[in-house]
Amino acid sequence: MISFGVEPALAAELAWIREFVATEIEPLDLAFGDEEVVYDKSHPVHGRHLRPLQDRVRERGLWSCHLTPEFGGQGYGQVQLALMNEILGRSAFAPTVFGCQAPDSGNAEILAHYGTPGQRERYLTPLLDGRISSCYAMTEPQGGADPALFTTRAVRDGDHWVIDGEKWFSSSFEKAAFTIVMAVTNPDVSVYQGTSMFLVPAGTPGLEVIRRTGLGYDAAGTGNHPYVRYDGVTVPAENLLGAEGQAFVIAQTRLGGGRLHHAMRTVGAVARCLDMLCERALSRTTQGELLARKQLTQQKIADAWIELTQFRLQVLHAAWCVDTYGAKAARREIAAVKVATPKVYHDAVVRTMHAHGALGISNEMPLARMLLGSIALGIADGPTEVHQATLAREVLKEHRPSSGSWPSEHVPDRRDAARARYADLLEG
Ligand SMILES: Cc1cc2nc3c(=O)[nH]c(=O)nc-3n(C[C@H](O)[C@H](O)[C@H](O)COP(=O)(O)OP(=O)(O)OC[C@H]3O[C@@H](n4cnc5c(N)ncnc54)[C@H](O)[C@@H]3O)c2cc1C
Repeated sequence: MISFGVEPALAAELAWIREFVATEIEPLDLAFGDEEVVYDKSHPVHGRHLRPLQDRVRERGLWSCHLTPEFGGQGYGQVQLALMNEILGRSAFAPTVFGCQAPDSGNAEILAHYGTPGQRERYLTPLLDGRISSCYAMTEPQGGADPALFTTRAVRDGDHWVIDGEKWFSSSFEKAAFTIVMAVTNPDVSVYQGTSMFLVPAGTPGLEVIRRTGLGYDAAGTGNHPYVRYDGVTVPAENLLGAEGQAFVIAQTRLGGGRLHHAMRTVGAVARCLDMLCERALSRTTQGELLARKQLTQQKIADAWIELTQFRLQVLHAAWCVDTYGAKAARREIAAVKVATPKVYHDAVVRTMHAHGALGISNEMPLARMLLGSIALGIADGPTEVHQATLAREVLKEHRPSSGSWPSEHVPDRRDAARARYADLLEG
């Protein structure tokens, strides 16, 4: 039985979230919503304004809903998370207020799965309380999509590990209380068996920001994605996360859900583009009539609505597959969503920008940032091509080569077979 309805209890929670985000959080976005402030827990806006809002979210039972009750969450399934995240995706601070901000949410998941009791107490508990931020360092300057190119090494030295190398685009590194770093621990086996994860507290000697890197709109020398050197960074042996050589198994725990959650928030951003497009069409007059009366604008609105609806259903279906069959069995659906996300978002933003004319590309609308955000979604967590290859591999598993020298849909062969079947009638 297929149902597109939402349980009344969940519908009530979603209505509360929508109102709360619009009235309490979006004003904070406008006043303080720069990426660096969002991740900087020491900024006064966190203590003064965000903590009280986080308390209200906790009282409502909506804090860190992606985590199980054991870790203070609600154990929401992916479908429930999808419906919630598409509202949070409209705001920069909303994920922080609801305890599901990337990369902290993914880092919390792997600490919950693989952390020792000591690691959980020191790193997971304050992370779940929203008191600290964290960073995840995998990408290196010479290669992000191909882990075989990673060269950052960790070598065991008695009761310690010593880490040397460089990491690139380590989002929020300077705001984070700790970083989860991937490093090669056994170069004699495949990178997938010879790489491990380490918990590196901020301020450990040997950590050095080579330079601050930002996104296109950030001023030179600023930004939240620094290039970081690890020069003899020494951590106790107990800072190994999971087993030695397990980094890529652990990374998968983090990335599957993370990709889907980005897509869920993108649904919200795409819906926001449609809202802006329609408002503009109903407000702007040219050559004596509203844009909304121009057929080419109507076509844009129709396309925008269709693509949003298709994408939203695709994301909800992928979420349902994860809930029903598990993330591994839903690889195809997750990869397809990852491929669709940047394209749908990009097309939605460009359409809305165009309808706003010069204002659309100006720094007085959120659209230019959204455009770069859409492109980033096609690169972060692996470029589109890698996920297209995964998707194609999964789809091909369900197909077989043709048994003869002609395709199975080759008409002459099929027609001959059909004619032979009805020969009595055809010949008679
Ligand atoms: C906003 C943002 C935040 C990020 N935050 C983090 C972070 O916190 N921590 C972290 O570790 N990393 C982070 N990254 C880095 C991200 O994971 C990498 O950028 C990504 O893995 C791609 O690596 P790369 O940039 O080195 O590109 P490359 O690997 O050099 O790829 C460049 C291009 O080559 C092509 N290509 C690559 N591989 C293939 C293939 N197999 N088949 C066909 N074509 C291919 C694609 O067109 C691809 O876009 C972030 C990136 C962005 C944009």
